[in-house]
Amino acid sequence: MSKQTLGFQAETKQLLQLMIHSLYSNKEIFLRELVSNASDACDKLKFEALNNDALYENDGSLHIDVAFDRDARTITLSDNGIGMTREEVVNNIGTIARSGTKAFFEQLSGDAKKDANLIGQFGVGFYSAFIVADRVSLTTRRAGETAATRWESEGAGEYTLEDVEKAGRGTEIVLHLKDGEDEFLDDWRLKSIIKRYSDHITLPIRMKKGNSYGENGEVIVSDELETINKASALWARSKNDISEEEYKAFYKHVSHDWEEPLAWSHAKVEGRQEYTELLYLPKRAPFDLYDRERRHGVKLFVRRVFIMEDAEKLLPQYLRFVRGVIDSNDLPLNVSREILQHSKDIDTIKAGCVKKVLGLMEDIAENRADDYAAFWKEFGRVLKEGVGEDMGNRERIASLCRFATTASDSEEQSVSLKDYLARMKEGQDKIYYVTADSFAAAKNSPHLEIFRKKGIEVLLLSDRVDEWFVSSLTEFDGKSLASVAKGGLDLGALEDEAEKQAQETKAADFKELTDKVKEVLGDSVQEVRVTHRLTDSPACLVAEEHGMSGNMERLLKSAGQ
Ligand code: ADP
Ligand code: MG
Repeated sequence: MSKQTLGFQAETKQLLQLMIHSLYSNKEIFLRELVSNASDACDKLKFEALNNDALYENDGSLHIDVAFDRDARTITLSDNGIGMTREEVVNNIGTIARSGTKAFFEQLSGDAKKDANLIGQFGVGFYSAFIVADRVSLTTRRAGETAATRWESEGAGEYTLEDVEKAGRGTEIVLHLKDGEDEFLDDWRLKSIIKRYSDHITLPIRMKKGNSYGENGEVIVSDELETINKASALWARSKNDISEEEYKAFYKHVSHDWEEPLAWSHAKVEGRQEYTELLYLPKRAPFDLYDRERRHGVKLFVRRVFIMEDAEKLLPQYLRFVRGVIDSNDLPLNVSREILQHSKDIDTIKAGCVKKVLGLMEDIAENRADDYAAFWKEFGRVLKEGVGEDMGNRERIASLCRFATTASDSEEQSVSLKDYLARMKEGQDKIYYVTADSFAAAKNSPHLEIFRKKGIEVLLLSDRVDEWFVSSLTEFDGKSLASVAKGGLDLGALEDEAEKQAQETKAADFKELTDKVKEVLGDSVQEVRVTHRLTDSPACLVAEEHGMSGNMERLLKSAGQ
């Protein structure tokens, strides 16, 4: 096929402009992004070659080479990874028709710092080349194919595609630097960027040795290649040999996050399954936390070979914000998604990792109160799903949950069930809660009147997930959870004899009235009765003891049920 000119989608153009502006202060990251793509490409090749050795084309030593040319003002990156077909180039490089694109644009604030963070999570990696380059040329040949393709663009609105020859498989990217970006045409500068961002990449990143000085001070130019990074899998190294900085840099690599992680857990696990886990809690929720087609999760390796990135099979849904790697020693290299779905071995690994992550959260909750509060703000709603999703760890997850309550009437969710239990009134045997579709509605619920009067604390639940939460968690530490808006409200020992007596007399006194009200309302209510649960309001609606709560009905209605 001859040379072809194609246009970027409107969104791609917009994204490019935005990226160049908001990331300019951090421009050196282009190298990290391109190296990371080259590394992914080599991982993919290794994985595909498991079933088809011929893909190596007799060249099984994978590496990434970086070079620069001061005269031509170019930087060149090449890898001998999987490469791309022409079609793949169009789909992967020419478009960003990804799920979540629209949601992504809606979240942009115009604040460069915040946007930069979002862009990082969104993963516009390749385009970051245009922060420093005004022309980018990508030449690629897919392993096992003969045809190669060249993609070229000035990052404005169009790109060209043409068929070319390429001897080695893989991808070569040439960046033609913009005026003023000559700082990158420097041996020391490039090497230090690679060390800073890409030390943990598991394949060698090589550059020419560069200049050195001989005995008499003469410059010796060497064409020999040297490996710049450590090139060992970080998680496979011993904990004592890994610095905090290395852990953080690795997090940014696996998570595509620009911020530092909140915490991490790193362990070699032995037993029924042997594996290494290095799992991180992010500081901030990704933009696609609620998007079913979210792209990032935990990466699975088998004996250092990348297998897949798929949070769903490796961790439960309620931990979908966790990032990192799991490297198994025992799984077969040719595991497929289907096998993973029904694998007892994966179940064992999954259960072990869940315990580690919950332990990590418990540790933060106990020792880093402010961090836990921040964590809860970002991920609390997701973690609450766990009470319904993970029966085995229900109590543990419930202990990690935090709530708004009538004790402070503040919207901030900061009370644990343990705090609640410690403050229970004498004779109180239930954990009381009210659910509503907003915090204000929960706080002002007339059902709370009697509880406020008696000084009994009530959980104020107004997150969407809360209905599910309370229907899954029926008791905690032996105390049952009870809605203040349901049933006959038997306060048990909290009620004194006189109150009970008064209640019964009143019911008799007002029987005529309640019968009349029932007659008027007819089938819209089941029963009309006198209550002592109100102190200020004249009347309220109460759900049946075992019926659906009013809030649940509203939720189902809004979901079209
Ligand atoms: P991401 O890496 O998050 O997918 P990028 O914008 O960095 O996003 O890259 C887009 C896609 O382009 C990659 O998913 C990959 O399919 C393809 N790609 C980029 N660089 C290479 C490369 N060096 N070799 C093969 N494919 C590549
Ligand atoms: Mg990338």
